[in-house]
Amino acid sequence: MGIVFKLLSIASLAALALAGCARPPEAGPTLSAYNAGIDTVITASTGSGHLRSTPEYRMAGIDQRATSLAGRTLIVGERAGIALAPGEVVLTFDDGPRPERTEAVLDALGRHEAKAVFFMLGRAARAHPGLVRAVAADGHTIGSHTYDHARLTELSPAEAMAEVQAGHEAVAEALGADGAGDVSRFFRFPYLAYDGVLRTAVADGHLIELGVDIDSKDYYSVTASELLQSTLDALERKGRGVILFHDIHARTVAMLPDFLAALAERGYSVVSLKSTDGSVFDTPLVTAGL
Ligand SMILES: [Zn+2]
Repeated sequence: MGIVFKLLSIASLAALALAGCARPPEAGPTLSAYNAGIDTVITASTGSGHLRSTPEYRMAGIDQRATSLAGRTLIVGERAGIALAPGEVVLTFDDGPRPERTEAVLDALGRHEAKAVFFMLGRAARAHPGLVRAVAADGHTIGSHTYDHARLTELSPAEAMAEVQAGHEAVAEALGADGAGDVSRFFRFPYLAYDGVLRTAVADGHLIELGVDIDSKDYYSVTASELLQSTLDALERKGRGVILFHDIHARTVAMLPDFLAALAERGYSVVSLKSTDGSVFDTPLVTAGL
């Protein structure tokens, strides 16, 4: 825990003192905040047209659910590197893993060769390490989301960063050292609740905070078909973006196959997001293993 604060710069410690009353913004950063350049683009998209809305493929008898959604792979070292073109989405699933539901999400994604980012809780990763490895084995990106889903703005800075670090370490530990994959540097704030001090502290920990452009609001008590329609509507309005889902909800699992089929039908592609290097939070974990 003391390690965390060695990582904070003098500047951010000064900011801690000044910004104690800062209020969190109401939502995460929007897409416009990301349009500052791309670090690395590895693969070209599959070349499907954007926003195709006519059901021409269905009429031609092609099985929508077998259509690949695989798009570019973006490898970024900072939030500013995430720039999505029209028709590109990043799928994110928070709060898991959860038995059965996360597996069903993997099945649905696998049918479309779509790679997502899973923001796992340390507590859930520790309870279900096999599931964490299954997600990684399918080629998805794993980020962290604190240990216990605390609202960090209500904690002291020390407590908040201890939550962040414990979450990252528990997910890394679940992945193990057997080549299943590393935890990425992506991090998402629970409830999207943060302030400038927390953002600086997370950045100082070498984590990449990933916001949300399209919140599916799948945590509300709606039916799967209502969730499908409202999420598609929100996506159509923006035309691209980082989409927030939760792989712990039955309604999300239920709507996902239809949602992915609709993405394919409308010509969207799913960007696979990867981070460069490891977090500085990885260092004490490696040391502990020696
Ligand atoms: Zn969450």
